[in-house]
Amino acid sequence: MSPSRRGFIATTSAAIAAAACAPALRLASRKKHDLVIRGGTMFDGMGAPGVDADVAISNGVVTAIGRDVEGAGRDEIDARGKAVAPGFIDVHSHGDESLFADPRSESVIRQGVTTIVVGQDGDSRAPSRRPVTAAGLVRGALGTSGAFESMHELFRAVNNLPPSVNVASMVGLGTIRGLVVGEDARPATAGELRQMRALVEGALADGACGVSTGLEYAPGSFASRDELIDLCRPLAGRGLPYATHMRNEDDTLIEAIDEAIAIARGARCPLQISHLKTSGPRNWHKIGDALGRIEAAKAAGLDVAFDRYPYVAYQTGLTNLFPISALDGGADAFLARLVAPDTAGRIRAATLGKVETLAGWNSVMISGVANPVDRDAEGQRLGDYAAKLGQDPYDLAVALLQRNHTDVGTVVFAMSEDNLQRFLAHPLGMVCSDGGAFALEGPARRGHPHPRGLGSFPRVLGRYVRETKTLSLESAIHKLSGFAASRLGLADRGRLAPGAAGDVVVFDPATVADRATFAEPFQYPAGIELVVVNGSIALRDGQRSGSRRGRALRPSGVTL
Ligand SMILES: [Zn+2]
Repeated sequence: MSPSRRGFIATTSAAIAAAACAPALRLASRKKHDLVIRGGTMFDGMGAPGVDADVAISNGVVTAIGRDVEGAGRDEIDARGKAVAPGFIDVHSHGDESLFADPRSESVIRQGVTTIVVGQDGDSRAPSRRPVTAAGLVRGALGTSGAFESMHELFRAVNNLPPSVNVASMVGLGTIRGLVVGEDARPATAGELRQMRALVEGALADGACGVSTGLEYAPGSFASRDELIDLCRPLAGRGLPYATHMRNEDDTLIEAIDEAIAIARGARCPLQISHLKTSGPRNWHKIGDALGRIEAAKAAGLDVAFDRYPYVAYQTGLTNLFPISALDGGADAFLARLVAPDTAGRIRAATLGKVETLAGWNSVMISGVANPVDRDAEGQRLGDYAAKLGQDPYDLAVALLQRNHTDVGTVVFAMSEDNLQRFLAHPLGMVCSDGGAFALEGPARRGHPHPRGLGSFPRVLGRYVRETKTLSLESAIHKLSGFAASRLGLADRGRLAPGAAGDVVVFDPATVADRATFAEPFQYPAGIELVVVNGSIALRDGQRSGSRRGRALRPSGVTL
């Protein structure tokens, strides 16, 4: 549907009727809106430049937009000098890791994000018959993650919380493979393939907004290209994306992009390349080739886009430094192989090669450990930490994995700032956090996380719009809202127009900024002043209300 530019001057028929009414009736209906945000510069989320307009919301829905909206609100917000935009959508979020432990999603709301899209990297909370998926374990996920038998059960649990933010979910093929095939590196049998496909179809029927893979993580990585094409076929008729953390993001990045394109073409579905990057200094020059292949696929008719977080370090499990073949069979088999005489040497050599790609052990920071005995490691660079302890860095890495049963998170500094800006500015690029949800206190204060979980969205608006001028404000807002919504079938989200959902963020373009850093990640951003979720104020004057009005979101057209 085309973004209604006319929507800006349009009001609802109710508002028009009210305006035409006799004075007595107008008096009786003076508090006609739940909320009116007045005097701000309104961005529609579809890429149009800002215009002076009020935004009125009632019953959780935008009811009028225009200059001097008629009728008072029960609550009125003065937004003069501020930008008013659709609530941001985090198209690749790990906010589900702590969602059930702390449904406030504090660091998410405080960035102006009103919808998180979870179930990423092949790892979703459903379907599951087990409390923790192997994919979650290998990712080094440190939060408390619920697991649910079906997407329907997950969404029901989300609505029962309820959360502060809206939650949409992909269904993860790593989760499904773990459930049906297990942890082994082998092809699926025909029967297993049928079972997996039925689980994908069931999840999409329940309202999953796409299919995700994490092809650098076990056991999802053990799927062949043909298996992935087969499991993505149910996406075709729905126009929902195959979202992939590709098989490689450094030395064989280009081959991985080709594979992702081949899978989407084979399945005839849209493609979303997750957190696109050129990792490792020796691969930075590949950006032209990488973007060229994506542009060529687009020109040839593939519905393709990508997302990226605004930082030059990534976060993953420490196991990611190790060859994926070593993870065959799961965590215990992996830990045994690390020290077994017939495998230890080969794994060590492959891992040292990967570390060389990243330009050394000090590119790797420990971000979280499961075992309290290693708490001192959090926030330390592996090279420096090993030197301090008088140990070999590889031996230290192995010891950490053993003491933490592989559950060690890392932040890895391996990307180019220039390339980051090219990805952000690219017309097919949108913005994600790839981060979890955190809080300064409570159960969601955990580990020493990548700052992206607390700063991504304000960082785009502050650093990359205001300071480096990499993006215009309207283009950035489009990438943070409407562009993302359009990929996921969330027709009433990501835009400001009468009839759209009442998800709004008001921020000060002159001061909006991230404050979380790699050294001190636990800091909320500045300049995000008001956040409204489904018509209810979640953040006001930068202060949190107790409101938790988020809910599970299904793509338009999915009815239960
Ligand atoms: Zn990923």
